[in-house]
Amino acid sequence: MENCVFCKIAKGEIPSGKVYEDDEILVFKDIEPLTKIHLLCIPKEHFKTVAELDDARAALLGRALKKIGKLAPSWGLENGYRLVMNQGEEAGQSVPHLHIHILGGERLRWEK
Ligand code: AMP
Ligand code: ZN
Repeated sequence: MENCVFCKIAKGEIPSGKVYEDDEILVFKDIEPLTKIHLLCIPKEHFKTVAELDDARAALLGRALKKIGKLAPSWGLENGYRLVMNQGEEAGQSVPHLHIHILGGERLRWEK
C-alpha cells in the first residue's frame, strides 16, 4: 500500500533494525522503544486489523506467533515478554498495517 511506512520497511525501501525476516514476515526494532527490548512483527502483506483476517491471513498470523515463540529467547526475551496488537483508533493504532508489539527485557507492570 502506498505511503504505508511498514510496507516500505517490508520492501526494504526504508531502513529498519531488522532482527528476523522470511518471505512472509519481518521483525524489527521499534524506533521509539517503550521497554528495554521493543520489537515489531509485521506480515509483509498490508492489512490493518484482525477484522480483516480471512483463513489465509489467520494462518499467517499463527505462523508469525509460532516464529516469535521460537525466536524470542534469541532476542534476549528468555524470561518472558508481552505481545500487544493495537486495533484501531481508540487503542492508539498509529500505523494502519497490522503489527505485533513484542515488549520485554525488563519487569513489566500490569495495572491501571
Ligand atoms: P501502534 O501505535 O500500535 O500503531 O504502533 C506503531 C509503532 O510503530 C510505534 O511504537 C512506533 O514507534 C513504531 N514506528 C513507527 N515508525 C517506525 C519506523 N520507521 N521504524 C520502526 N518503528 C516505527
Ligand atoms: Zn502497509
